[in-house]
Amino acid sequence: MNVNASKAQPLSDISYTVSFPEAQAHYAEIEMNITGLKQNTLDLKMPVWTPGSYLVREFAKNIEAFSASINGKIVASPKINKNTWRIATKGVAAVTIKYRVYANEVSVRTSYIDVTHAFLSTTGIFIYPANMLHSPSTITITPYSNWAKVSTSLEMVNGNPFVRHSPNFDILFDSPIEVGNQDIFGFDVDGVKYEVCMYGGGNYDKERIKKDMHAIIQQEAAIFGENPNKHYTFIIHNHLRGGGGIEHLSSTVLGISRDNYGSEKGYQGFLGLVAHEHFHLWNVKRLRPIVLGPFDYDNENYTTNLWIAEGFTEYYQEIAVRRTNLYPPENYLEQIANEFNVLENLPGKNVQTVAESSFDAWIKGYRPNENSNNTTISYYTKGAIIGMMLDLEIINNSAQKHNLDDVMKYMYVTYYKTKKRGYTDAEFKKGFEMFAGKKLDDFYKRYINGLDPVDYNKYLGYAGYKIVDELADNNDAALGITTGTTAAKKVMVTSVTRGTAAYIDGINVGDEITAIDGNPISDGSNLITGKRPGDKIQVTVNRDGQSVTLPVTLLKSNRVKYKVVPVDSPSAQQLAVRTKWLSL
Ligand SMILES: [Zn+2]
Repeated sequence: MNVNASKAQPLSDISYTVSFPEAQAHYAEIEMNITGLKQNTLDLKMPVWTPGSYLVREFAKNIEAFSASINGKIVASPKINKNTWRIATKGVAAVTIKYRVYANEVSVRTSYIDVTHAFLSTTGIFIYPANMLHSPSTITITPYSNWAKVSTSLEMVNGNPFVRHSPNFDILFDSPIEVGNQDIFGFDVDGVKYEVCMYGGGNYDKERIKKDMHAIIQQEAAIFGENPNKHYTFIIHNHLRGGGGIEHLSSTVLGISRDNYGSEKGYQGFLGLVAHEHFHLWNVKRLRPIVLGPFDYDNENYTTNLWIAEGFTEYYQEIAVRRTNLYPPENYLEQIANEFNVLENLPGKNVQTVAESSFDAWIKGYRPNENSNNTTISYYTKGAIIGMMLDLEIINNSAQKHNLDDVMKYMYVTYYKTKKRGYTDAEFKKGFEMFAGKKLDDFYKRYINGLDPVDYNKYLGYAGYKIVDELADNNDAALGITTGTTAAKKVMVTSVTRGTAAYIDGINVGDEITAIDGNPISDGSNLITGKRPGDKIQVTVNRDGQSVTLPVTLLKSNRVKYKVVPVDSPSAQQLAVRTKWLSL
């Protein structure tokens, strides 16, 4: 919470111009003019993080050549902490600030500029006056060279695409800006204007994309009963290898591998990402945990509810695609089984609860290390599984009258629309209980705040499905490491899984495996071919320049590979739940 954000302050007039005289070197130049000031001191701040991506990124690190002037004369603007500059304004009305931003990090949540385009992730571009987050501003873009287009959800001023208006800084920081010569096409969904802006080329089929996006958007709007935007912008960056997405109030940024559209699997992944980020315009951008707005741009904003904000979005991305009937139901069952397998093969499932995973996103999820799989889980994965469990519980317990959609809509209407605030943990739990028709204290104790193994067959059983482990009869031996091979053909250990032979017998991350039973190794893929559980092997590693030989007793692989299959002779009740769950 920014407690100062709502305090009445004199409303100033703030305008920025952004130009790119050194686009080839990844720079933007910003000039900020503030008029209407009445204070003695003006603090200017740069956000340290970008909402939607729970990591302190220290955007001020990219700022240089900061200067402030009053009446054309440079005045002192010392930094008072890592992201704040202080100017003694002494009652003058107008100040001009100039600075340069280095933007050379390709991701959906960081800015990138070169001669082909500028992607401005606004939290890392625009400084703001402290305690004046409510102030409107005008942004004028001076394009580089032949750049002809601007794509953003910020409104145009006087129909000029290069001049945009932001009603306050929360909106500005929620509105990324793409400038360049991107390929733009659009479509309407029940009165809402959608614009797709493609940077970087790619083998996409515009007509197919428009049709499939349209179907997904309609399915998602139906869940909440309305589409609150008038217009929405998809900014899509196509790279050799791209990935990730970030949600905003009226837009999203997606990273895609540009050859993705050519394969069915790749295209389905693209639609899944579209469905995910677009679903966020309700779930987290409007229906949100109480601490996620108004944002504190100076610090971490802690919540235990990312399993709802992200996990349910992950769940619904697949449900929304399922409901379009673009793919058969089996396709959906495969996707949800993938989630099970990711969770079940992580030793971290026995260490970190989904509420802890959410709270510690800032220091763990977004800062993984070689031991992360042993100690952490993803609130995306487990949250999606919990979404499925609660959906099935509600459908089953309400005699197919309700499903998770009803909870989402109720919470959206009650907290976003009516109370105009975020929800607490207890309030969301009440929402579930209302539609499940039962108390969920035990469920929360076991699955949200506890480490109980998921009872897949109980929940899937409601719909006449069960899991089978395709590796159940497997008696393969496992070492329990992952490796990477360097250019010099060195086989390096990159992770060691807790509880495996390698973990118990002391193979370390960073070891170079040089020999097994005295035979030199140059390929990490077949280290124990032909070995059985219980076999003893000698693993020779180069550790910090010294050769060490470790006796290792191989264990049976404990990996699982679940598949969701129908039970034999499902009851009428099970078939009714199945029909409701999968919209058959
Ligand atoms: Zn998400």
